[in-house]
This record gives sequence, C-alpha cells and structure tokens, in this order.
Amino acid sequence: MKEINSKISGFYKLPIEERQKIIADQLRLNEDELDLLKKYGYFKPEQLDTMIENVIGSYQLPLGIACNFKINGNDYLIPMVIEEPSVVAAASNAARIARKHGGFQSDKVKSVMISQIQITNLEKMDEAEKKILSNKQKILEIANQQDPLLIKLGGGAIDIEIRKFNTNFGNMLIVHLLVDVLDAMGANVVNTMAEALTCYLEDLTNGKILLRIVSNLATHRLARSTATFDKELLGGDEVVDAILNAYEFARVDPYRAATHNKGIMNGIIALTLATGNDTRAIESGAHAYASLKGQYSPLTIYHKDENGNLVGEIELPLALGIIGGMTKIHPMAKLALKILNTRDTEELCQVTAALGLAQNLAALRALASEGIQKGHMALHSRNIAKLAGVPDHLVEEVANILVKDKKIRIDYAKEILEKLNDKNSP
Ligand code: NAD
Repeated sequence: MKEINSKISGFYKLPIEERQKIIADQLRLNEDELDLLKKYGYFKPEQLDTMIENVIGSYQLPLGIACNFKINGNDYLIPMVIEEPSVVAAASNAARIARKHGGFQSDKVKSVMISQIQITNLEKMDEAEKKILSNKQKILEIANQQDPLLIKLGGGAIDIEIRKFNTNFGNMLIVHLLVDVLDAMGANVVNTMAEALTCYLEDLTNGKILLRIVSNLATHRLARSTATFDKELLGGDEVVDAILNAYEFARVDPYRAATHNKGIMNGIIALTLATGNDTRAIESGAHAYASLKGQYSPLTIYHKDENGNLVGEIELPLALGIIGGMTKIHPMAKLALKILNTRDTEELCQVTAALGLAQNLAALRALASEGIQKGHMALHSRNIAKLAGVPDHLVEEVANILVKDKKIRIDYAKEILEKLNDKNSP
C-alpha cells in the first residue's frame, strides 16, 4: 500500500472529480470503487458540494416506514433512516400494542430556544445582573431587529434569564436569551440575535463578552408523550412486571440508563435524520437532559395502571424544525416530511417523542421476555451472511441456517456457503 499524504494543498478548491482522482490515486482505488464515488443518487454533485466541504461523493442509508402509529388521535406513517436491523419493526410493533388503548398522547411543545451570552471581566456581578434585567425590553428589541420575517410570523425573542458562576477564570455571568423560533430548529436564528447584542451588553455591564451560541440543552422545548400498553398484548402480568423491573434497573444505574436511552434514540435519531434535522443537536440535548438532576437517568418512566396495563411516558428536549437547515434543501428530507404529513414543528416533535417511547417499550419488552438477541439476530444474520460474501440470491437461505443453528457468525456463514456451492456444483 502506498503511503498516505493527508496534507493536500487546496483540496477544498478542487472540483469533485479532481478530489476523487486524488483519493483514488492515493488509495489505488479500482474502477468499481471510483464508479461508486461517482454515484450521487438523487443529488446533483453541485448540491453536495455546497452542503459540506471537501466532498468526494454521497452516502446512502435505508429509508423505512414505521407503521401503526396513532398520536393524539391521528395516524402517521413515520419515515426512519437507520442502518440497524429490527428498529423499524420494533417501533411498529410497540405502536400496534399502544393502539388498543388509543395510541400515544403527546403534549403541546413550545418552540423556545436558548442562546447563551457569556459575560466575563465583571467586577460586580450583581450590579451587572440588575442592569441587564432592568433593560430587558431594550435587549429583546435589539434581538428582534435581526429577523423581521420571524417577527412577522409571530416569533422572536421573548425573555431573558441570568445564570452566575464563579470559575477558575473569575466571575462569569451568562445571559440566556429565550427566542420563539416557530417552525425552525433555531440555532442560526438565536446565534445571530446573541451576536447582535455584543456591543449593547458590553456597554451596559462594562464586561467582556466571549461566547454567543445556542444551547442544545433546550429545556424550554420539552416534548412529552404517554401511552398505555395493553398487558395481554405485551405478554401478560409477568412481562409487565419484568419491564417495570428493567426500568427500575435503568433508574438506579447509569450504566444501564445509557443503553436504555440509546434505544430511545434509535427511533428519535432515525426520524431526525429522515427529516433532515440535526442529529447531534438532538443527541446532545437528550443526554444533557438525562443528566440534569445530577445522575444520568432514563428519559422514560413507567408504571402500572389500575387494570395492570403498562403506562409509559417520555420527556426530552426536541429542537427540530420543518424549515431551515437541510429540511427544505435535501430532496429526500422534503419527501420524508411530506410522508409524515405534519403541519408544523410542534406536531413533528409530538410524533418524535411518541416514536422514542415506542422504541423504548419495544426494547424493554424484548429484553425482559425473550431477550433482545432473538429478534435482532434473526435480522442481523442477513448482514452476517453478506459480510461472509454470500451472493444476494443465497442470503436468505444462509441467514435462515445461521439462525436455526444458533451460530450467527461469519466463519459459519462461509462454511454453509461452501456446502451449498458444493451441493449445487455439477
Ligand atoms: P435557518 O437559519 O436555516 O432558518 C431559519 C430562518 O427561517 C429564520 O431566521 C426565519 O427568518 C426563516 N423562517 C421562515 N419561515 C419560518 C417559520 N415558519 N418559522 C421559523 N422560521 C422561519 O435555520 P435555523 O433553524 O436557525 O438553524 C438550523 C441549522 O443550524 C441546522 O442546520 C443546524 O445544524 C445548524 N446549527 C446548529 C448548531 C447547534 O445545534 N449547536 C449551531 C450552529 C448551527
């Protein structure tokens, strides 16, 4: 293998084809590999080139539909982009169980984002705080001059909060600018507003402003959803108790809570990605929220109702948009939003929260009854067969044997393939 040189001067200025050639030369890519880089799918290369830097191709993932969802009385077909087998099936199954008792009920979600403004070098923090609070209207006015369209549509900066810290770099006063961003995710909206306040706040406080940036811990944008899962459809009293027991494990142990929440994010991120939203913003917000009470905790809670059915509830910040960012630019995100058929960002958040709850219930049920591997590995066996080099027309046959023999391993898939080839050779 040729030595790699990662210092490629002016790489970003080159056309995509030139970049592909450089990478192909360095890595000695064959013609098929180079052709794969040139398969842009539904994108035009120019589109890709304006989305991020140093583009050499595009990357595809499966788009699936989670079925059976009834949320606030309406049915939804939920688009999910994810590479992990059994996630879509699990969500659909949990939604089927929830339907018997009316599906999911999701609360109203406000689209209020926080922008943080860090003020340092303050001699008297309390005095600065008083000045800021007594000039709140002026601060909101300056912020709202930045986005006339948002104001016209009924959004804009609505309030401020102050937080004070003593740090290794001295006192720090943080202004939270609260902005109703309506149907946008809102990071760019609030960042612009916060930056515009720099001079005014420095003059007002005699401090030095450093960071001005959105907080992904969007605690004014909490989404909540609840559902009753029928005990018979879940598998009976024993399964309900086992799920409650599993939930208790996550409640007391952050090692378990991390995986519990990962299961929730399987659903939430799949929809976030499908709709062209920022998955990192959602992830960081969710995990920060899970830690807010001092210990990393599950984002869902469960209890039994008077009839022995399982009631689940989810609560997490969801900074999602149906406008701005990639949502109206990415052709498949636009189509996914059309399939989802939501009227606004609030409805998108309500669906997303319900999907997270469904995903969590499905994982807990599998773990607490037959174990997660049974369903998961059956689907995973196809991937293992493909990894072992099994041709497409034999994948199903080999995967079935892997599952039947309880040996879902690449070496075993190769062994079966050899046997099948021997059997079929003349
Ligand atoms: P944006 O700036 O692309 O669009 C928002 C604009 O759309 C508003 O300023 C408004 O003028 C206009 N608009 C039109 N109709 C509207 C409506 N009905 N509701 C609301 N606004 C409407 O997008 P954004 O949402 O401000 O920013 C999202 C992008 O910011 C994402 O791509 C994200 O990845 C990125 N980002 C995230 C972070 C972070 O999460 N830490 C930081 C920086 C940037």
